[in-house]
Amino acid sequence: MKPGDHVQVKTKKETIKGILMPQQGSFVVIKLKNGYNMGIDKKKVVKIKKIKSGKGIGKIKTKKVKQKKDLPKVTFIATGGTIGTHVDYKTGGVFMCRTPEEILATTPKLANIINIKTLSPFTTASEDMSIDNYKKLAKLIADELNSGAQGVILTHGTDTLHYTSAVLSFMLEDLNKPVAVVGAQRSPDRGSFDGKMNLICAAHFCKSDFAGVAIVMHGSSSDEFCYAIRGTKCRKMHTSRRDAFRPINELPLAKIWTDGKIKIINENFDKRSDKKVVAKTKFEKKVAIVKVFPGSDPSIIDWYIKNGYKGLVIEGTALGHVPTGESGTKAGKFNKKMSWIPYIKKAIDKGLVVVMASTTLYGRIHPFVYRNLRLAHDTGMIYGEKLPSDMLPEVAYVKLGWVLGQTKDCEKAKEMMIKNLRGEITKRSDAKSFLF
Ligand code: GLU
Repeated sequence: MKPGDHVQVKTKKETIKGILMPQQGSFVVIKLKNGYNMGIDKKKVVKIKKIKSGKGIGKIKTKKVKQKKDLPKVTFIATGGTIGTHVDYKTGGVFMCRTPEEILATTPKLANIINIKTLSPFTTASEDMSIDNYKKLAKLIADELNSGAQGVILTHGTDTLHYTSAVLSFMLEDLNKPVAVVGAQRSPDRGSFDGKMNLICAAHFCKSDFAGVAIVMHGSSSDEFCYAIRGTKCRKMHTSRRDAFRPINELPLAKIWTDGKIKIINENFDKRSDKKVVAKTKFEKKVAIVKVFPGSDPSIIDWYIKNGYKGLVIEGTALGHVPTGESGTKAGKFNKKMSWIPYIKKAIDKGLVVVMASTTLYGRIHPFVYRNLRLAHDTGMIYGEKLPSDMLPEVAYVKLGWVLGQTKDCEKAKEMMIKNLRGEITKRSDAKSFLF
């Protein structure tokens, strides 16, 4: 008997049927029909019987879905992630290999909401996404929207979903229709698979009046509703919860239910239009995020200068601090060599664009409250001028790469960085958005 085989396990109390998974210590693990795994103490097992041999990979039935031509045309692009995984019964882990049709087979109801065209440009875990992948996606989405699609659903691994939603927000200029970026925190073999509801809500979102990129994922940990959250104001805030994606520094755009009801929460969005989408995909790859922490060695910046980097996002503490040793009358035992100020100055003198973003994620940075903040601001590092930035560090990174792809002129780049281009810097902070 090997993992993947269909078995019947008999204990003194009950008989359990399922698929044999790799053994874990002194437990026999079987996958039940409802998708959950069950561990049975070997000592309690009276008999295991093989019912039939398995194939090693979870089999998914794909029926050709009958498209209803009168429904709005939506292009479904699958790239990878948990939403597109199979169970590998040899290792017990899941792996990404589902075709778009197999993903759709998990949620046949979609065909009652939208008329789907499927595309699969590549399959990858989201931690392996590359800038070239982003460019390919932006071009594909622009082509689809310019040739009749009423919206796009993009399925993607959740780990870096918010980087992709931000990249697409910047790369797709004059975006005239909804682009829903969707993933799943639980794989389709499990009873708690969240992809189904996320996909249904994304389909409803694609029929809405909204124009722009939004992440559509569970709003609570139950199968109640999804939130559509602006692509530049969203972040994965939990490793495993189904409601891991939260809006940061603004309210979600809308609440969406599976029956198609949509409640607008944040009116600040562009409406669907007849504009032509332009894919502006040039992106400067030599951009990085550098995180500040007590004891952090600022000479890391020299490495970036030496290796030809063109821009850095410094993830500073709270209002935008970097270690300076200038924080009090006697700054404890601060070693002056650990001050970030001369290194940041050097980087800016060498022509790098340096931007501040906060480790706190919530709230705005502000360069004038403390003396040491003023010193950091005097280096020429960008904090935002009249409107101090509340951009997420990941969004600042994506924006900087995109901006430096559009212009090599540092002054022009600075102008673009402090300007709100895609809803990434809010004008007013809504108190209700904190820990929403
Ligand atoms: N780490 C994988 C990814 O981001 C799986 C996580 C997921 O999709 O939820 O693609």
